[in-house]
Amino acid sequence: RELLRRGLSSASPSLPPFDHQPRPYKGMLADEVLEKRKKFLGPSLFYYYQKPLNIVEGKMQYLYDETGKRYLDAFAGIVTVSCGHCHPDVVNAVVEQSQLLQHTTTIYLHHAIVEFAEALASKMPGNLKVVYFVNSGTEANELAMLMARMYTGNLGMIALRNAYHGGSAGTIGLTALHTWKYPIPQGEIHHVMNPDPYRGAFGSDAAHYAKEVEDHINYGTSGNVAGFIAETFQGVGGAVELAPGYLKLVYDIVRKSGGVCIADEVQSGFGRTGSHYWGFETQGVIPDIVTMAKGIGNGLPLGAVVTTPEIASVMSKRIQFNTFGGNPVCSAGGLAVLKVLDKEKRQAHCADVGFQLIDRLRTLQQKHDIIGDVRGRGLMLGVELVSDKDKTPAKAEAAVLFEKLKDLGVLVGKGGLHGNVFRIKPPMCFTKQDADFLVDALDYAISRL
Ligand code: PLP
Repeated sequence: RELLRRGLSSASPSLPPFDHQPRPYKGMLADEVLEKRKKFLGPSLFYYYQKPLNIVEGKMQYLYDETGKRYLDAFAGIVTVSCGHCHPDVVNAVVEQSQLLQHTTTIYLHHAIVEFAEALASKMPGNLKVVYFVNSGTEANELAMLMARMYTGNLGMIALRNAYHGGSAGTIGLTALHTWKYPIPQGEIHHVMNPDPYRGAFGSDAAHYAKEVEDHINYGTSGNVAGFIAETFQGVGGAVELAPGYLKLVYDIVRKSGGVCIADEVQSGFGRTGSHYWGFETQGVIPDIVTMAKGIGNGLPLGAVVTTPEIASVMSKRIQFNTFGGNPVCSAGGLAVLKVLDKEKRQAHCADVGFQLIDRLRTLQQKHDIIGDVRGRGLMLGVELVSDKDKTPAKAEAAVLFEKLKDLGVLVGKGGLHGNVFRIKPPMCFTKQDADFLVDALDYAISRL
């Protein structure tokens, strides 16, 4: 009766039909996994959900827990499962290569690494044609920073506040969120204002933010820098799309100061934005170095750095070696990912589904004051929750909604300094029915706060 009085239906939205029968699970249950994880994997601050989920199977955009309950995966294992969980083409490529040869290093020749490198280079604009394979985004950014310093002979790096570029001793300096930083020396790294159209001091005014970069270089460095690094769509920082025109202005400033420009495409590459294959293309720039990981392998441990022959030539003065970089199994899997994304026209699909999703989320924003901002493009979206007109982060409400969504069968990501941004970055096979269900579930959960 109370629901009816508030004009709410009592029936919770249900997941779209999906033709897959999960295997009966007879393995270790969540409590035991958690206990052993705490004992053998060290204490962690970083569990999702009050009772962490024990995910035991995945099929395309869906995940299954130990009870067989199905969840719509709107976070893709932190923006990593690009084609879909256990996509058959990727699985087959990995199995076939594993049965033939699991490992050889770059001291010998192997066809898989060159086929993959050639296919990846064909996706890059300009003179970005030389590929280095690594195993993760952190490693990719470490190598990019090394390249920038070797090539320019300068040390200073410029990064954005709110950025996440990795957690190693080097990349932790680039990362600019206190929750992710250990108190170790940062090296010569300068963090500039984040051109965040929703929360930034200058709104969408790219020129003001760019001027601040110039000031940093003029007043905080010798006048010469090694490089500038940015995600075009900040991920961990809370699904923030940089103010339009920002990268063009800043690339000019940085290049005039002798530096190179690095685009971190670990989250935003491979057509996820719908409008372009790479995030940086949305700002009309061509970087000197591009780093990537996550979606490149659909879950395989794989990363890459792509740069110009000129920058690469500096690296060849010493040995640049990575035991697993370009491993045949990962290369075969990565090549299969590129082929699937093309064959299934996933970039256009992200644009199409993303358009509907963002439209429905904006309509929902009109209904619920707690939705302060809906942003992004394609299947790279963020929903920021606020408590009032002053944009106070709705931290507690976000935590409650996050759990409720999970109970309804939707897994989203959390981001931003206060965890009040829901990140919606599903596998790129996510459908319009999935999008509708996600919005209905969010509406249902917010209506019952
Ligand atoms: N760069 C960005 C934009 C990321 O989001 C991440 C990870 O979340 C990294 C780099 C680091 O990647 P990895 O966790 O594979 O080391």
